[in-house]
Amino acid sequence: MSQPFHVLGPVRHACTGCGGCCHGVVVFLNLEEAARVRGFAAAAGQPDPVVDRRLAFADGLCPFQGEDELCRLHTQHGLEAKPLLCQQYPLVLTRTEQGLRAGVDPGCYDGWKSWDEGPLLDARSGAVEPRKLSPKAARHEDKVLDLLQLEGLTVGRLACFLADEPAAQPAALPAAFARRLVERVIAAGLSTRMSPQVSGVMLHRVLSPALQAAEALDPSALPPWPVLGPREEAFAVSMIRRMVFLRLVPGVAVPPAVAVLGVIGAVVCAWHDPSPQAFGRALAGWCRVMRAPAFLDAMAPDPASLINLATGR
Ligand code: SF4
Repeated sequence: MSQPFHVLGPVRHACTGCGGCCHGVVVFLNLEEAARVRGFAAAAGQPDPVVDRRLAFADGLCPFQGEDELCRLHTQHGLEAKPLLCQQYPLVLTRTEQGLRAGVDPGCYDGWKSWDEGPLLDARSGAVEPRKLSPKAARHEDKVLDLLQLEGLTVGRLACFLADEPAAQPAALPAAFARRLVERVIAAGLSTRMSPQVSGVMLHRVLSPALQAAEALDPSALPPWPVLGPREEAFAVSMIRRMVFLRLVPGVAVPPAVAVLGVIGAVVCAWHDPSPQAFGRALAGWCRVMRAPAFLDAMAPDPASLINLATGR
């Protein structure tokens, strides 16, 4: 019997070929893929590119990425030479206890360009990653996803919902939550903990200045909000929704905590530079590092503490 299939709205994306997805990721290989890429590497005189059924990244870089940032498997042998996960990126398929889910990975460097108006992807086939939650966590996830689909939701309103505070204005940030989130970012010292190996070289380049700027803020004298335009507000909410829906932070099995982390990233990146490209890429970097153990150890050693961070209780 086929499984239920879920998407949150149209799955849109246009790849720019920037090469940003070839850094700082884990690419699992099946036996056929491992043999295939080993063959290409041997023919090119490269060392063995496979370790423990994964592509052997060195310093966060894929063994097949060229100096022009492009994939040599793709440029020299065509799309189908690549492992399936790479062929389908940024399409993510997640198997949950409720069925299959599909969406575009928010960690795509150039996804900000086409998330709302790009061409539709065929989201029904590809490599599937199983990510299961407990029944209790799945119920929390349903509630957060209902919230994240509210018409006209902004980062500020989402922050108010998570902080359990009334929204003074549709896009305003709850001041106490904003102060607490900056205090947490400063205490976590993310700018020194995050490296190009964690987020990939390109995303690190755009995220790192945003982290440094946030760590230099005075929590008692924060910049004004709102700073985002309507499209960037909707983009930020879409990114957070996809992080939750696709279960891309398996280290945090508390879905509201994933939304809190997403809000923190959107605020940090928007304060630094709210222009579409800078914000879009920096938030993609944040969505990539959210999955890294080094990030979670610093920001959320206890995921439940993120809920306390939001509510102040
Ligand atoms: S990061 Fe996104 S836009 Fe860039 S090559 Fe990868 S999938 Fe394409």
